[in-house]
Amino acid sequence: MNKSDSEHMLGLLDEIGYAQTDNEKNADLMILNTCAIREGAEDKVFSYLGHWNKHKRDGTLIAVGGCVAQDMGEDLLKRCSYVNLVFGTHNLHRLPDLVLQAEKGERIAELFTELPDDLPETPVIRQNDFSAWVSVIYGCDYNCTYCIVPYVRGREKSRTPDVILQEINELANAGYKEVTLLGQNVTAYGHDLDPVRHLGHLIEMIGEQDAIRRIRFLTGHPRDLNPEIIDAVAKVPSACEYFHLPIQAGDDRTLRRMARGYNVDFYRKVASQVRDRIPDAALTSDLIVGFPGETDQEFMNTVNLVEEMCFDAVNTAAYSPRPHTPAANWPDQVPEEVKNERLRFLNTVVSEVSHRRNKRCLDTVCEVLVEGRSQRNPERVSGRTRTNKIVNFVGDDSLIGKLVNVRIEAANPWALRGSLVS
Ligand code: SF4
Repeated sequence: MNKSDSEHMLGLLDEIGYAQTDNEKNADLMILNTCAIREGAEDKVFSYLGHWNKHKRDGTLIAVGGCVAQDMGEDLLKRCSYVNLVFGTHNLHRLPDLVLQAEKGERIAELFTELPDDLPETPVIRQNDFSAWVSVIYGCDYNCTYCIVPYVRGREKSRTPDVILQEINELANAGYKEVTLLGQNVTAYGHDLDPVRHLGHLIEMIGEQDAIRRIRFLTGHPRDLNPEIIDAVAKVPSACEYFHLPIQAGDDRTLRRMARGYNVDFYRKVASQVRDRIPDAALTSDLIVGFPGETDQEFMNTVNLVEEMCFDAVNTAAYSPRPHTPAANWPDQVPEEVKNERLRFLNTVVSEVSHRRNKRCLDTVCEVLVEGRSQRNPERVSGRTRTNKIVNFVGDDSLIGKLVNVRIEAANPWALRGSLVS
């Protein structure tokens, strides 16, 4: 979502004559788009700002946007005397006006508590010319006891199907092949519209645009992944058979204390619905270890669930107390060294399971959308399968942005290697 917001910031700033530079020493305006999801990300905000302050030219403006800005507001101006502008997550569309004000020497912190009722459409300069992010819903109506997102991103608000389809048609005409529909809770799409819609409707409508060869969506909540959405993915040829479905813990008491609104059995049923309907679907998840009060046994229930569910991949994280969240104040915090030990152990199990899943691809031919050169081996290019697995193979720049077939010859826990099928 932040990457997508940054592309919209570029579009908005283009309207008042700013252009992107990759040399920070030349910049007239530096914008830090921030993330507050974990303490570590928030700490980085201040180390970046300190670095920028040392290296900026006289007259360079420094602006801070995103979730940390939404949370801290005016306090950021007080803490960092060299910051000129703080804007939040609900007033991105105001960026050009705010920058013009800051150019005149004002120091500004402007935050809205909610997105405007008429969602403003903002211009965009995308950083990729074959795969695009498309936000379809903003905010989150859940209140998980560890999560700062509802506080900084507000309540769910869906864009209408017409504006989304217009954007998709423009992308198709510009040669884009892949779209990723975004939302903090994308599976809740449309419940707030009149008439009510759901993500399955959107996938079916986008599926009629032949030029878009891949439709993805990120990220969902298990309670909102209804059978109609699964059915739409099964039926629409361009919908990728890939489901990122965060469970967060594999233990019922922990899930209750997280206020996730489901238990492990419920999750099992949703995962079965996906795999029964789409046997080749990849299922990935998010897990938090060391949530307050988590016992060794409860942690092991999470580990065992990874084995049981055979996830294709899992994003793991140690619990990080966040401001404005109930769990941050609970007395039974798990010591850092225990959290880190659990995280190490879980990661070992996750990579064994992912490795097993990836090996299932050996000797098959996968369609790969080539994204760029491999970071590790310049002779290779790198892309993704429909199931979102990374594939590296020998190839040249002419393949970037193309859909090609690759025979898979090797698998490790994080990626596949193969050769181009002519
Ligand atoms: S559903 Fe996701 S974004 Fe919403 S409160 Fe829970 S963890 Fe945060």
